[in-house]
Amino acid sequence: MSVPISGKVIKRLTLYHHILSDCLLKAKEYISSQQIAELLKIDDSQVRKDIALCAASGKTNVGYNAPELKKAIEQLLGFQAQKAAFILGAGNLGSALAKHADFADYGLDIAALFDIDPAKIDRLINGKKIYPLSELHHVATHEQLVNKRRVEIAILTVPASAAQKSAELLVQAQIKYIWNFTPTILSVPDSVRVCNENLVGNFLEFTNN
Ligand code: ATP
Repeated sequence: MSVPISGKVIKRLTLYHHILSDCLLKAKEYISSQQIAELLKIDDSQVRKDIALCAASGKTNVGYNAPELKKAIEQLLGFQAQKAAFILGAGNLGSALAKHADFADYGLDIAALFDIDPAKIDRLINGKKIYPLSELHHVATHEQLVNKRRVEIAILTVPASAAQKSAELLVQAQIKYIWNFTPTILSVPDSVRVCNENLVGNFLEFTNN
């Protein structure tokens, strides 16, 4: 990706991608910027501007070729470049995320899950094994040496009380991106990026507007 794309544009492009996937399911070959804009309740000039980033152009009166535009968005956002992630906390939320099929479609592969509950260790969720937390470092090293990939992303779904300690272990295991689903503000070195998935905050913002 040569030009950095803003987070807002990335989010809109993934929404266009959902719409295009739906077009393919319905065997609809073309879609216009106006149709996309109406579905998302946004301006169609915005849609055209975003799509121009993919170097895709529409045909007058017909619109964009859906399969081609879908591929162009995938290329721009790097869906095809597989990224691997660990999930810390294989409870309800962690398990649901491990089963979420969209992640694989968008190039995110869950490499393994970790938990401290002995009853959960060695279970498989969506074909991915739950390891004891004490093996985090070992599994990370194995991924690097044997599977020749560095797992740099972690999804944090432990209870809030365990969040900071878990984040510290993730930093030690060379994790660079923490997708934090816990209601905790993590303290990590500047080199580690944290994305706070503020589920409660989003809900309150949405229902108060
Ligand atoms: P369950 O009732 O199956 O444990 P839950 O989603 O209600 O699920 P939570 O209390 O939110 O459970 O905990 C989420 C998961 O995190 C659980 O599987 C728990 O065993 C695990 N967990 C707790 N502390 C840690 C920790 N320090 N490191 C990794 N996993 C942890």
